[in-house]
Amino acid sequence: MQEKLNELKARLQAVYDLHGAAALLYWDQATYMPPGGAEARGRQLATLSQLAQEQFTDPAVGRLLEELQPYAASLPYDSDDASLLRVTGRQYQRALKLPPQFVAEIASHGARAYQAWTVARPANDFAAVQPLLERTLELSRRAAEYFGWPAGGHVADALIEEADYGMTVATLQPLFAALRQQLTPLVAAIQQQPAPDDSFLYRHYPEQQQWDFGVEVIQRFGYDFQQGRQDKTHHPFMIKFGPGDVRITTRFRENDLGDGLFSTMHESGHAMYEQGVSLALAGTPLGGGASAGVHESQSRLWENLVGRSQAFWSYYYPRLQALFAQQLGDVAQDAFYRAINKVQPSLIRVDADEVTYNLHVIIRFELELALLEGRLAVRDLPEAWRASYRDYLGVEAPDDRDGVLQDMHWYYSQIGGGFQGYTLGNILSATFWQAANAAHPEIEAQMAEGRFDALLSWLRANIHQHGSKFTAAELVQRITGAPLSIEPYIGYLTNKYGALYGI
Ligand code: ZN
Repeated sequence: MQEKLNELKARLQAVYDLHGAAALLYWDQATYMPPGGAEARGRQLATLSQLAQEQFTDPAVGRLLEELQPYAASLPYDSDDASLLRVTGRQYQRALKLPPQFVAEIASHGARAYQAWTVARPANDFAAVQPLLERTLELSRRAAEYFGWPAGGHVADALIEEADYGMTVATLQPLFAALRQQLTPLVAAIQQQPAPDDSFLYRHYPEQQQWDFGVEVIQRFGYDFQQGRQDKTHHPFMIKFGPGDVRITTRFRENDLGDGLFSTMHESGHAMYEQGVSLALAGTPLGGGASAGVHESQSRLWENLVGRSQAFWSYYYPRLQALFAQQLGDVAQDAFYRAINKVQPSLIRVDADEVTYNLHVIIRFELELALLEGRLAVRDLPEAWRASYRDYLGVEAPDDRDGVLQDMHWYYSQIGGGFQGYTLGNILSATFWQAANAAHPEIEAQMAEGRFDALLSWLRANIHQHGSKFTAAELVQRITGAPLSIEPYIGYLTNKYGALYGI
């Protein structure tokens, strides 16, 4: 058995080496590659991903998985080897379901649609992408058919499980409906109160100082620059080449202090998760974060529950103020805290505050379901988008650029499965935060001294080290002893924003 297991691991390692090499090529494309490299780079990435796919779906992998079944059955569910065989088996079965020709079709259509979107968005030209999006919808439905879904389930379940295994429309819809029901009156009550002044966040903040401050903060968080680095991109992201090299990118606007700072914290949260996965799981399907939702819980936890908290700024505000004496010299700590937590219904998801953010996500989730079910035609999507924004947020986009064209997800990937992880991440972030603070009541006091080791070690022990061994629901059950619930998250928002806005 040990010999077969070693052979399986060697085959998986080769697959992950190809993924790591592709990741490096992608990172270079997004950071330093000259424009002339684009065509060859696209081909190289496609070649590597095809090789990885071929090696992973090799019948020898299937044979080994089958022969190792009795061994897996003899082990405890949460052991490394049982988890490896369970998760690899699941991914292997899924990978076999899509014909290689269809995979290639999706990839080439995705590249074309994304290219068209980069032109259509600034031009506010939905008509230009409409036929491409219709094709995306058709391909998404076909992919769902190939994957299949259980009787009584939803066509979107087949796509959601790719990013958030174990989550279904039947579990998500009531969760999201309850969340909306709680958030709507909170947003309305906040809007009755005077809006805090945040104009000083938009003064001139030189980039180099923003960079230095961000680096100081995430180093203190525990992001390890010996096993990573930070570079600049248009859209910040985290990327892993292998254990020991987990990089992040960020961006700065010199007239918007929050943009760079909070996205740096956000990406460092993703990266610390990957840096914390047990080395024993490296080079296998277990060697990365558990799901889109769990990943986002880590980034949002550091960005919001830490980075927008009073405790954090009681230590860091005097330092920030000293660094930007001209810009913030006349701004008290409390005014700063209120400004970075200003709630205001708006048009753009990525700029949304903590309270309204999930309404943006729920709108997209509901529209995806309507499209996949055939209740909504792509040509009617812009109007449906506007109607949802009026209904959920009370705002109306003057054009499609800041409406249905704002997110790249539907244009480079599929329709379905791409958004639920953001809201799951927020719900999970507060769930994990509550559990961490119950176990280590000193976390807040440490934060007020610029220390984060109690928090990080709790995350390492309870979440990071496990990689993909457990699903989101399993992690929640192990940590809290109860099923996933929106209560901790609603409790967090109500307490924080109730105090902030005096409601
Ligand atoms: Zn993220």
